[in-house]
Amino acid sequence: MSLIVQKYGGSSVANAERLMNVAGRIKAAKEAGNDIVVVVSAQGDTTDHLMDMAMEINSNPSKRELDMLLSTGEQISIALLAMAIEALGLPVISLTGQQVGIKTSNLHTNARIEAIDGSRIRKELDGGKIVIVAGFQGMDDNDDITTLGRGGSDTTAVALAAALNADMCEIYTDVDGVYTADPRLVPEARKLADISYDEMLEMASLGAKVLHNRSVELAKNFNVPLVVKCSFNSNDGTYVREESIVEKMVIKGVAHDVDIARIAVIGVADKPGMAHKLFKALADQGINVDIILQSIGRGGTKDISFTVSKSNLKQAVDIIKGLLDELGATDVKYAEDIAKISVVGAGMANNPGIASLMFEALAEEGINIEMISTSEIKISCLIPKEDIERAVKAVHKKFRLDSVA
Ligand code: ADP
Ligand code: ASP
Ligand code: MG
Repeated sequence: MSLIVQKYGGSSVANAERLMNVAGRIKAAKEAGNDIVVVVSAQGDTTDHLMDMAMEINSNPSKRELDMLLSTGEQISIALLAMAIEALGLPVISLTGQQVGIKTSNLHTNARIEAIDGSRIRKELDGGKIVIVAGFQGMDDNDDITTLGRGGSDTTAVALAAALNADMCEIYTDVDGVYTADPRLVPEARKLADISYDEMLEMASLGAKVLHNRSVELAKNFNVPLVVKCSFNSNDGTYVREESIVEKMVIKGVAHDVDIARIAVIGVADKPGMAHKLFKALADQGINVDIILQSIGRGGTKDISFTVSKSNLKQAVDIIKGLLDELGATDVKYAEDIAKISVVGAGMANNPGIASLMFEALAEEGINIEMISTSEIKISCLIPKEDIERAVKAVHKKFRLDSVA
């Protein structure tokens, strides 16, 4: 008998009909002789609606209360899915993050899973039940409800698969798998049969929200076999695993991110310790910083620019305003009309010319590059937001991602 963890995203459980479809899939997996643990997200756009409700009341609510609110979406889903499975005549129980002992850090709205006590789930499985768990939520050491960051139900699923030593973690969503680019933007994008953990981690971190980036990190660290499939059909999905078989693909995909903003700290004192002071203050508040660019010092000062996710922009700017004196800086500016396009592929390390090909594609479209960042397996460019769709299509085509067998 195998233990399978399945995760169904918001669109897969958006209404009664889809919940019944998911219940049928779970029934089939159970009747094939497997133990089944299911993680679900909030229905459809529920989490966005909850966020809007919060903003109507208070534009700057405490993150603890925000988590209390946002976590309710998943609680609705687990109860409804359990009822759907009951209606099919199978034994089932729904459980919240707290009830299954998902312990997290206390960084509200972006908490990290620290430990999982699998005993309750094991007991229910031993009793023959299908176990339905609320994604995206956990509990900190004050017994307060936390959430794991938008898209975090994937991470709940992989963490449970790791903790329970599951044989497979299946992520069901509204696309057939991981594509060479977001199939909504690039209709010619192709489904990948395989992608390595490292490549998928880059794709997810660089904006391909088909998987939450923390879920891929956990899958890699705990060697959890992961597959991304569609909940609306039975097509083959994409396997995320240690080694990619499709070695001939130098570039695996193009990712894009429009949820970013650029911050520029102007006139920072040109002396040791300033960058550390700046980025430590942001890191201490759990703010991730991406592409960093420092200007050449002039007249004893320099400018430091970097990108953050839009959801962190206000908090980051406030932190920096409070630090201006300490940094000897004169001003902090920001821009939201930017986007990031990236190419990802483990093969690029051994293939010179990838960057120049990417720049050529953008140049041919007349798109200006504002910042560049590279690693062994990715190249990212910051460009004007209005150009992102054209950029993704052009780069995808330049690397012939629509035609590689
Ligand atoms: P779920 O609610 O099931 O978690 P998400 O909306 O979070 O689903 O993720 C699925 C979406 O990810 C797809 O609908 C697709 O638009 C988007 N996406 C972005 N990049 C990719 C990619 N490279 N491959 C597949 N899907 C992608
Ligand atoms: N419901 C949460 C969100 O919309 C978590 C998830 O869907 O994974 O971000
Ligand atoms: Mg998702």
